[in-house]
Amino acid sequence: KEKKVAKSKEGASYDIALKNTENGVVTRFPPEPSGYLHIGHAKAALLNDYFAHEKYNGTLLLRFDDTNPSNEKQEFEDAIVEDLALMGIKPNKMTYTSDYFDELYEHCVKIIEQGDAYADDTEKETMAAQRWDGLPSQRRDLSPEESLSHLEEMKKGTPEGLRWCIRAKISVDCPNKAMRDPVIYRCNPATHHRTGDKWKIYPTYDFACPIVDSMEGVTHALRTIEYRDRNPQYQWMLDTMKMRNVQVWDFARMNFVRTLLSKRKLTKLVETGLVWGWDDPRFPTIRGIRRRGMTIPALREFILKQGPSKAVTNFDWGLIWATNKKYIDPIAPRHTTIFNKNVVKTTVTGGPAAPYSEEKPRHVKNAAVGMKKVVYSSSIILEQEDVKLFKPDEEITLMNWGNAIVRKVTTNEAGLITDLELELHMAGDVKKTEKKVTWLANEGQDLVPVELVDFDHLLTKDSLQEDDVLEDYLNKHTEFREEGMADCNVADLKESDIIQFDRKGYYRLDRAYAPGKPAVFFNIPSGKTK
Ligand code: ATP
Ligand code: MG
Ligand code: MG
Repeated sequence: KEKKVAKSKEGASYDIALKNTENGVVTRFPPEPSGYLHIGHAKAALLNDYFAHEKYNGTLLLRFDDTNPSNEKQEFEDAIVEDLALMGIKPNKMTYTSDYFDELYEHCVKIIEQGDAYADDTEKETMAAQRWDGLPSQRRDLSPEESLSHLEEMKKGTPEGLRWCIRAKISVDCPNKAMRDPVIYRCNPATHHRTGDKWKIYPTYDFACPIVDSMEGVTHALRTIEYRDRNPQYQWMLDTMKMRNVQVWDFARMNFVRTLLSKRKLTKLVETGLVWGWDDPRFPTIRGIRRRGMTIPALREFILKQGPSKAVTNFDWGLIWATNKKYIDPIAPRHTTIFNKNVVKTTVTGGPAAPYSEEKPRHVKNAAVGMKKVVYSSSIILEQEDVKLFKPDEEITLMNWGNAIVRKVTTNEAGLITDLELELHMAGDVKKTEKKVTWLANEGQDLVPVELVDFDHLLTKDSLQEDDVLEDYLNKHTEFREEGMADCNVADLKESDIIQFDRKGYYRLDRAYAPGKPAVFFNIPSGKTK
């Protein structure tokens, strides 16, 4: 076993290797343009990219597996190209399975002529039952001539042609059910987004993938482990058509708790308007998680670390967000926000007679993050949640200012504190206080209205099973909004900026502040390492 350890772009080492790499490495990422890329696809794409571009000096192909015109759209193709670029993946070449429709058709004719495939019009359910029970189709012994005439009919997309498909003649009752005469061509009169109405028949993935891999010079085909049963079938196709061999390398499918990773189901949520779109921050799409505040280096590190594992895991999101925190914490500027709900107006005695400001580092441990303006005043605001814990004459700390002593607390009939008087005590030791609170001067600066949005998972169940009905497990309450005011510097932040609000957490700015429109921030989970 080869054990070279390569350094990734992040400088980390991953212990993953391919066999038989002496004659070069050509990998491919073959998405179907039927949806936006999700984090599972990111794993497939990053592994292919890693082997082709970091570990070996090879070639990465991006191949659109566009063999089902009913699902595919230009919009999805464009989004896939963009998202790969966002992830720092640069395919050396972009191809389409549809580039090979002529050759694939010729292979289909050839395999029928050889007696290794036949036309079948067995009804779908019956076919599935027969395959399950290991029974032959009634059409299994059709002559090549008869099968070819049905293929002709299929090619025209006639009602008669639509009834038929072509199946590889591999086995009736092989214990590996993937070998039980899989369908290799089917009829579909839908217009294809690239080839238009030229074709009415399309190869299946099982047929097209090995042939195109072989034709394009792919040396290593990476597939998720659930395809393992289909490896002998892949091999059979290449052997039967006497084509150049391709080495298959299996990797584990990536799943996350309470998360859908099926384009079909994600499409459903987009189409029914349950989410804002493919880039919804609750979505596991590349766009969704980026909008939530995931950084690309963290995504790459998390995925490549899982690389060699073949065990299918249902990851907790905590782990990947903890990886992300490692990247954002050292560079996220610190700001302050106070929630509007039951804000406490506070007078500071012994403080400045008039508001004044100072330039302070935006990050206490990283000067490179720059400076911000901090305004001090005798009129400040505090949060109810903090103030209600204050005891009379207690010494507390106003963060990034100094200590103060609680002097006067005014409470209304509802039991809410409305007004507070603090006496500044700058000689006090900030290390000795128990309560350190956030505050904002409400004069001497234009506070910026903000909305802080947090999200919950879209599903109420950790792992949806095959026969679970999606609608039964949709979380009804997944969006939580708080309004607040933030320090004046927040007005200058730009969309996509990642910051930390003191004592609140990490946030990504989704919509920058504009007069009359609050800045909208999305909470970035800080994760946990269990
Ligand atoms: P989906 O179920 O989301 O439609 P798919 O496998 O049908 O996924 P493709 O566009 O065919 O979608 O996938 C492109 C590549 O991404 C394939 O190589 C596939 O194995 C891989 N892939 C898809 N989902 C995952 C996942 N959850 N974990 C790892 N790899 C995945
Ligand atoms: Mg697929
Ligand atoms: Mg799928």
